[in-house]
Amino acid sequence: MRIKVDFDLCESNGLCEAMAPEVFELDDDDFLQLKVEQTTPENVDHVKRAAAACPRAAITLED
Ligand code: SF4
Repeated sequence: MRIKVDFDLCESNGLCEAMAPEVFELDDDDFLQLKVEQTTPENVDHVKRAAAACPRAAITLED
């Protein structure tokens, strides 16, 4: 699945990075960066947890 972030909604609170640091990372300017754009069998559970935890509902997954 493709990982999408609505950067207009993101408030850079780092919750997704805490849940899936292999995928999400806040850079030095507190902008969220995606390290990968697709889920893998290894990261998909973490990505889904991050999406559920995001208080801004900024993370979505597309087939
Ligand atoms: S959890 Fe949501 S609001 Fe927080 S940094 Fe990640 S995408 Fe942005």
